[in-house]
Amino acid sequence: MAPRYLKTGTKAAKSSSAPELDVASIVKGVIDDIRQNGDSAVRKYSEKFDRWSPESFKLSKEQIDAAIAAVPKQTIEDIKLVQANVRRFAHAQRDSIRDFEIETQPGVFLGQKNNPISVVGAYIPGGRYPLLASAHMTILTAKVAGVPHVIGATPPIAGQIPNTTVAAMHLAGVDEIYILGGVQAVAALAIGTETIRKVDFLAGPGNAFVAEGKRQLFGDIGIDLFAGPTEILIITDGTADPFTVATDILSQAEHGPDSPAVIITTSEEVGMKSMEIIDELLKDLPTAQLAGASWKAFGEVVVVDSLEEAWKMGDEYASEHVQIFTKEPREALEKMTAYGALFLGEKTCVSYGDKVIGTNHVLPTRKAAKYTGGLWVGKFLRTTTYQEIRNPEASGELGRLCGRAARAENFEGHARSGDLRARKYFHDNYSW
Ligand code: NAD
Repeated sequence: MAPRYLKTGTKAAKSSSAPELDVASIVKGVIDDIRQNGDSAVRKYSEKFDRWSPESFKLSKEQIDAAIAAVPKQTIEDIKLVQANVRRFAHAQRDSIRDFEIETQPGVFLGQKNNPISVVGAYIPGGRYPLLASAHMTILTAKVAGVPHVIGATPPIAGQIPNTTVAAMHLAGVDEIYILGGVQAVAALAIGTETIRKVDFLAGPGNAFVAEGKRQLFGDIGIDLFAGPTEILIITDGTADPFTVATDILSQAEHGPDSPAVIITTSEEVGMKSMEIIDELLKDLPTAQLAGASWKAFGEVVVVDSLEEAWKMGDEYASEHVQIFTKEPREALEKMTAYGALFLGEKTCVSYGDKVIGTNHVLPTRKAAKYTGGLWVGKFLRTTTYQEIRNPEASGELGRLCGRAARAENFEGHARSGDLRARKYFHDNYSW
C-alpha cells in the first residue's frame, strides 16, 4: 500500500538548500555593502536588525570577566561537564585521522598530512535563545583540531551581552569574542574589515539568513556545511510510546517557525495518539508559539506498511536528526545512510545531542545529509599530500611515463619536465 499521510504541513518542507528569494537578496545586499564599506556597513546592519551599536563589537578582557562573573556557579559547572563530553568525543575523532607515508614502488614515497586551518570564525547563534551549546560544538572542536586562532561571534539578546554564551565561548578556548549577529557577523568575518580580522573558514549553525550568508560567502572562505533551521524525524513501530514521540517532536519544533518535524510509523495508532498528545502538550508549552507554528506548517505524520519502507523513506527525507523508536533500533544503523545524527532507542534523544551528550550538534539540514555529515574535527583540518623520490631510477622511469602521459593530453611543457628527469636519471643511453 502507498504511504498514508495522517497529517501534512500547510507549507511544503524545504526540499533543497536553495533559500527563499527574498532571503537570498537581503543577504546579498548586506554582503555587497560590507564588502564596499567595511565597519560602517557592519554597524548599520547591526543597528537595523539587532538595535545593537556598542562602542566596540569586540569584548574586552574586562567585559568577558564581568560576563562570566554574572553566570550562576552551577551553570558554569554544567558547561564544563558538557564540554568535557564534547572534548572526549572530538579527541577520539582526532585520533581516528592519521598522517601516513607509504612507499608505492622502490624509492617512491607518498604521504598525507593533516594541518589545522589557521584562522576560524565560529558563529554561535542566539537571536531567539542563547544557544551556548553551539560554542562547545564549534570553538572547542576547532581547538581540539589544533586551530591556533578562533574568533567567535554571537548576537546580542534583547540588546544585552548574552553572558552565559560568552562564558561558554571563553571556556571552550576562543581567542576573540564579538557580540555581533546575523549576516553582518559572518560577512565581516569572511571579508575582513578595518577592525575585524578575516578568517579562512566559517563554522556554526544559524537561521536562514546566517546559513544563506555562509553559502554566498563560500569561496571567499571555506564553510563547514549548510546547517540551517533544525529538523527532526522519528521512525517508530507499534512499540513506541506516543507521549515520548510527541514530547521529542516538540523539542525540535520549538527552535523556530520553520523547523520540519516528521513522524514515520508502521503503527497508525502510534501516529494518531502522538498527534493528539502534541496538541495537548502545545497548550502549556511556554515556547508553543514557535513550536505550534512549525508543527502546523511543516509537521507530517506518515503511516507505512513496513520498517523497510520507513528506512527508505527516512533516507529520502535525509533529516538532520533521526530518532529510532522501534523494537530493534540498531537495525537503522545497517539500513539507513542519510541523516545528520541517529538517536537509537528512546533512552536517548535529540535534546541530549543538542545539549549534553558529546556528539556534535552542528548538522546538515535541507537534505544536505545526502552528501555530508555534520561538523567534526576533520572539517577544521586540511588533509594535504606530499611526495618524494629517493631512487634516481624510479624518477627516470616516471619521467618516461610522464612524457608519454602528458603528450597524450597535448601538454608539451609537462612532458618536458618528465623528459628532463628521464634524461638525468634513467640510464645513459636513453633518448626520446
Ligand atoms: P541566529 O543567531 O541564527 O540569527 C539571529 C540574527 O538574524 C540576528 O542577529 C539578526 O541580525 C538576523 N536577522 C533576523 N531577522 C533578520 C532579517 N529580517 N533580515 C536580516 N537579518 C535578520 O539566531 P536564531 O534566529 O535564533 O536562529 C538560530 C537557528 O539556528 C535556528 O533556526 C536553529 O534551528 C538553528 N540551529 C541549527 C543547528 C544545526 O546544526 N543545523 C544547530 C543549532 C541551531
